Order: sequence, then structure tokens, then C-alpha cells
Amino acid sequence: MGSVRTRYAPSPTGYLHVGGAWSAFFGWLFARHHGGAFILRIEDTDRSRSTQAYEAAILEDFRWLGLRWDEGPDVGGPVGPYRQTERAPLYARYAQELVARGAAYPCYCTPQELDAERKAAEAARRPHRYSGRCRALTDAQRAAFEAEGRRPSLRVRVAEGAEPIVIDDLIRGRVVFDPEHLDDYIIVRSDGTPLYNFANVVDDHLMGITHVIRGSEHLSNTPKQFVMYRALGWEPPAVAHHPTILGADRKKLSKRHGDTALRDYRDQGFLPEAMLNFFALMAWHPEAEREVYSIDELIRGFRIEDVGAASPIFDLEKLTWLNGVYMRRLLEADPDRVVELCEGILRRAGLPVAEDAAGRRYLRGVIDVVGERLKVGRDIVVYGDFFFRDVVFDTGAVAQYLKPQAAPLLAAYADALAALGPFERGGIERALREVCARAGVDARALVHPARVALTGKTAGPGLFELIEVLGRERAVARLRRGAAMAAGEGVEGP
Ligand code: GLU
Repeated sequence: MGSVRTRYAPSPTGYLHVGGAWSAFFGWLFARHHGGAFILRIEDTDRSRSTQAYEAAILEDFRWLGLRWDEGPDVGGPVGPYRQTERAPLYARYAQELVARGAAYPCYCTPQELDAERKAAEAARRPHRYSGRCRALTDAQRAAFEAEGRRPSLRVRVAEGAEPIVIDDLIRGRVVFDPEHLDDYIIVRSDGTPLYNFANVVDDHLMGITHVIRGSEHLSNTPKQFVMYRALGWEPPAVAHHPTILGADRKKLSKRHGDTALRDYRDQGFLPEAMLNFFALMAWHPEAEREVYSIDELIRGFRIEDVGAASPIFDLEKLTWLNGVYMRRLLEADPDRVVELCEGILRRAGLPVAEDAAGRRYLRGVIDVVGERLKVGRDIVVYGDFFFRDVVFDTGAVAQYLKPQAAPLLAAYADALAALGPFERGGIERALREVCARAGVDARALVHPARVALTGKTAGPGLFELIEVLGRERAVARLRRGAAMAAGEGVEGP
């Protein structure tokens, strides 16, 4: 294949949606697979909804995800600018060219007149199409409208009796479209700003885009854009419309299903490499039995023809599982990144870790103790909160385990730990068994109350490991308080 150029063209009207990131991933993979270029273009012509802040956020989110672009608003490139609001002269030039070719004409209809047309069509129960009232105005009629102070919009003239439009979609196959069904749509508003179907075509052409890969919500725009390519005498790019992601209820993924912004996943402590692997699994099945792929494998194996037209379900459970796999690998390969990730999550949860070497060592110990439970960064809070703040007691756990008979056991264990030699898990376990043996009770009579006293919960990481990480001072104080609570002294706070 010649020099492939793909693009992702977000409108900066919100945070990057997981569906948007997924879409961009296709363009990026395709470009990387073919050794081509991936371009980021900001489609900000809707000035009332586009903001600089959203644009910056979108760029930031892509950087986090690890999708780098070769050309874009920040890095520039040979066919910039890469922001539509900076390309006005180009749109003006091609708008003029279309008028000169007779392929577009000024339309002086007011919004009220167009509204009346629409209502009349509705009343008569026929599909509304622009009447073509301004299609054949004489120069004198135009001058008269201008004299009234009307500012024209520009409409494309969809040629009558034109050849059918053939779209060979790389994912959906061949679609043949009769231009009869299109009306003369507006390409430039009366204020001079270009509309999507026009600006998009001008940009894709001038930027040398060879493959337009985007969501099927744009399928209905494609014939309009192909009309535009024809009117301008340009060869359209290849197109591929991928399906949209659905929630578990098979409805389009939206806020109702939970988080939809990519950054929400980042903030919960998902890893970008797991996210990309998950994106691939939603798109195609590289191999039936395998779930985990490196990015290089995905790039090598990607074939747009393998992408199914059926909508995938956003399976959060699978993403979480996959993230756990990547978390284990990262702990082997680059433990500092896991520490950093957890540190950020704890800080945002109001549980800051000391910023020195001891603080990091402590956090590393907690990460090891939480072990396999740490699938997503936020699990450090779910399973390890008590390492970073005082115990928050589960009332059910207290009622069940901090009973009077546990009080002397907890007190004895506190004393034993205070007197223990080196504070490591072997000795910590032996001390517990000795306390229980002396009292003539089963170890469970102390294991459960101790866990509640130390963590506030009935389940969690291994008891002796967690005591070792918690440290002698904290463990002893918590066990003493637990003893007092069990004795019915109603103690709160050590
Ligand atoms: N700005 C459009 C969007 O955000 C781009 C559509 C396209 O890729 O052509 O949906």
C-alpha cells in the first residue's frame, strides 16, 4: 500500500469518550501497521460548544493512552494548520470554486422560511427536502435579496440524474446510494463558517488522508461527502465505519452505564496498555484462545477487514481482569510505576503517603500485601485504606467479633507483639499461636477479632503480612483499642 495517512478528527466539545478513543485507536493501528502517518485534526467550527480546555484535555488523554500522532495542532506538520478555525481561508477558497463550477449556490432563505417549509412537509406527511427555491435565482433576484440585507448561506447543488454513489466500506462492504435522496444541503452558514460535511472533505483531501476510519454514526454523512468530492473533482479516500460500543443492556454506551470519559478510567487507576489491549478485544479476535497482546503484536496483526460490523459490549469485568494481568506484569517490570499510580490514587482519596523513601517503601509493602486484589489502582483504597488512615469499623464486623471473650486474647497479643524480637511475619504468626495455645483456644478465636481490630473489616489481605507492614507501633495500639472495645469499654480512637 502507498503511503497511508489516517486521522482522528475530534470536536473539542467534551472529554474524550472511550468510544472516541476506540475510534482513534483504529486509525492509529492502521497507520502504524502500514508504516504510515496518523494525524490529529481538531474540528472546532462549532464555536459555541468547542473550548480550548477540552482540546487540551483530549490531547492529554491521548498522550496518557500512548497514541502518538505524527501531525497535529501541537506538533504541526506539512499540511497544517490542524485546527479548523485556523483554516477559514481554505474553506473560502473551495466554496468559491464550487460556486464558480456551478456546484454550489447562495441561498437567501431565512430560518423562518425554511421552518415553514419543514412544517408544511410535516403537515402533508411527506419527507422534508429543501424546495430548491434559491437554485435558479437570477442575478437581479440575488441583488434584491442582498439589498434587503439578507446574508446567504451556501448550498451544494446535488446534480439531478447523477450517477449512483458507490461506497466500498472496508468494514461494511459495498453500499450503493442514489443521490436522488439527497437534497441541496448547506455547506457554509450565512456567517461564513463551514459545515462539517464540507470542511471535513476539504481537510481530508488537502491533508492527503487515504483512509477515513470512523464510527458508524457518520455513515449517513458519507454520501453527502462523496457528492462533495465529486463536485470538487477529487478522488474520495477509502472509508471504514466501525460499529459503536454498547453497554451491557445493548444500548449505546452512555453515562447511564457508568464512566464514559477515558480520563475517568485513568483516574480509577486503569493502565493505558490494558485499555488498548481491551480495545483490540472489542474490535476483533486476534486469536481465539488468547486475550493478552503486546501493542507490537496488535500493530503487526491488525487488519481492518477483521473488524466486525456488529457492536461490541463494553465489558467492564473483562477490562478489570485484564488490568489485573497488566498490573502483575508491571509489578515485575517496573514496580515504581505501580507505586506512583497508587500514590496518586491515595492522594486524591485524601490518604497521602509520605513523600520520602520510607513512605514509598511502606506503600510498596502495602502493594505486595494487597497482592492479586490490586487489579485497578483504586483497589489500593478499597483493600488497603487502613494502612493510610485510622480504622473505619464495619459495625457488623465489630458486633460479630469484638465480643468480651476476645478482649483478653487481643490484649495478650498486643503485649506479645510489643515484646517480639525482629518484627517479621514468621514471629508475628508464632506469637499469635502461642497466645491462643496458652488460652487453650483455637487460633480462629483471635485471628478474626485481630483482623477487625487492625483493619475494621472481616476480609482482606493475609493477617500476618499486613501486621508486618503496618508496623509494631500501629498494630499494638490498634490491638489494645480492639481489646477495650471488645471488653465493652466503648473506646473510639487510639
Ligand atoms: N468531528 C467529527 C466528530 O467528532 C469527526 C467525524 C469524522 O471522523 O469524519 O464526530
